[in-house]
Order: sequence, then C-alpha cells, then structure tokens
Amino acid sequence: MIRDPLTGEAVLLGSTRSARPNEFRHGPQERCAFCPGNEDLTPPEIERIASANGGWSARAFRNLYPAISPPHGDHEVIVDSPAHDAEITRDGAALWRRRYERSLEREPSSFPVLFKNRGAYAGATILHPHTQMIVLPERPERWARMMQSERCSLCDARTRAKHEGTAVLEGERCSAFVRNGSRFALALSIVPHACAPSLLDADAEWEAVVEMLHLAASSLLAGFGPDTAFNVLVLSDPHAPAFHWHVELLPRLNTLAGFELSTGTFIRGAHAQESAEAWRRMIRPSDGSL
Ligand SMILES: [Zn+2]
Ligand SMILES: [Zn+2]
Repeated sequence: MIRDPLTGEAVLLGSTRSARPNEFRHGPQERCAFCPGNEDLTPPEIERIASANGGWSARAFRNLYPAISPPHGDHEVIVDSPAHDAEITRDGAALWRRRYERSLEREPSSFPVLFKNRGAYAGATILHPHTQMIVLPERPERWARMMQSERCSLCDARTRAKHEGTAVLEGERCSAFVRNGSRFALALSIVPHACAPSLLDADAEWEAVVEMLHLAASSLLAGFGPDTAFNVLVLSDPHAPAFHWHVELLPRLNTLAGFELSTGTFIRGAHAQESAEAWRRMIRPSDGSL
C-alpha cells in the first residue's frame, strides 16, 4: 500500500487495472468470461460450490487484474451464479463467506474486504453478477473509525431507527434500517442483532442477513429498473476487540462528484426518514425464493 504524504490517504497501485475489458463502455464481450462453458477465460478456479448437475452454482478465482497481489495481499473474484442476471444468491454468498474464512486461515492477520459492484456507476466493468474480495495487510482507516469505544453505535442506531421512523425491515435475527449519518440517499444498513466483530461469529445471522439483502436488492431492481447500479459492502473486522459486523446496500443513483472527492464529505439527497419510507414502499413481501 502507498500512503500519500500530502493527505495521509492510503492508495493501492493496481497497475494492470486499466487493461480490464469494460462491458459498460464497449458493449458485452462475445463470450462472457463468467458464464458456464467459458471457464477457460478466467484464471484457474480456487474453489466452487458444486451444483446437482455436475456444474457449479458459484466459483472463485484470482482477479486477472489485481489491485493487490501476494505477498502483500490478494484479490479474488466470486461469480455469484451461473445465470447471467441472478444478482444475490444463497450459494454465491456462501462462497463469499467461505473465501473470507480461507483467506484468514492463510493469512491470519489480514483484513479481507468483501464488496459487490453492480453497474457502471457502482464501479463494475463486467455485467455478469460477481463479488470481489480484496485482502489487505492492514485495517482500512474507515473501519478503524468504526471501532466501538464504550457503547456500540450500531446497536444504538438500531434502537433509534425504531423511534425515528427509519426502520425498514425487522427480522428475528437481523434488521434493516437507514442510518441518519449514512453517505448516500437510500443507503440501507442490514445489521445482525447479535453484536459481534466478524461474520464468521454467527452462521444463522449470516444466512438471515443474506436473505434480507436478497429481498432488498431484488426490490430495488424491481422498483428502479433492472439496470440500477448498487454496491454491497460487507463490513467485518475479525481482529477488532469491538466492532459490529453488518452489510450495507448502497443504491448508486449518482456518481461521486467533485465536492466529495475534494472534501471527503458526501452530499446526501434525502432525509433518512424519506429514504426509509421509499424502501418500505419498494420492498415487496418475500416469496421465499433465493
Ligand atoms: Zn455471463
Ligand atoms: Zn453492536
């Protein structure tokens, strides 16, 4: 990692990244590298979740254009589904978690960062649904700022959401709500009720969070249209003494602009209550299909 002496900000140098094919700029590739039958177009497979027909329902490999490489870190791609348009899947998410676990087994002191970019505004270059994991040698600064001191502010935020009208979904093991301080309009925090630092701390909570994420993401695509861009951030810190792991779903209705890049301060287009109300209107009852 490079640190800019002027600003103190960390920078990763992924010098091959500019050679990536960009399907949003140049149109779909002739053969989608992430579709079944085209596995020869990706780097060698590291792990898969096998499907009943002898194929796979999710697979992982090293990123061909890594942002960071061994021994400093790692960069993997997880293809979430054999289907070219199935966004959040149970097997895909199971593989996110497994790769997270494996990477900590290999490098116990590392910080794996799981995230999904969907659509050009969210930073994707490939259409086929996929998730990435960048393994960092040190804790991201934003996470360090999220480490809890005495009281957990995410636990507090959940309680407040109920009183302030920003709650969106309430489940047995997790809740979804809009945080007052979130950077984007419609940013949805999906938070397990059990306050634990790492997503490896709880099996049932993980599944419940993924289920809620699926419901929210599919509702978003139904509400705003199938081309809607969004990011999914999995925030989990296995080394923090006090951290509350959770997932953020960030609809990207706008790109980052000059003010944000200059100041690090975000301009949010709606009150948390308005965003929560929009989510409640958008989310349809689960049909149980994931
Ligand atoms: Zn495909
Ligand atoms: Zn907490």
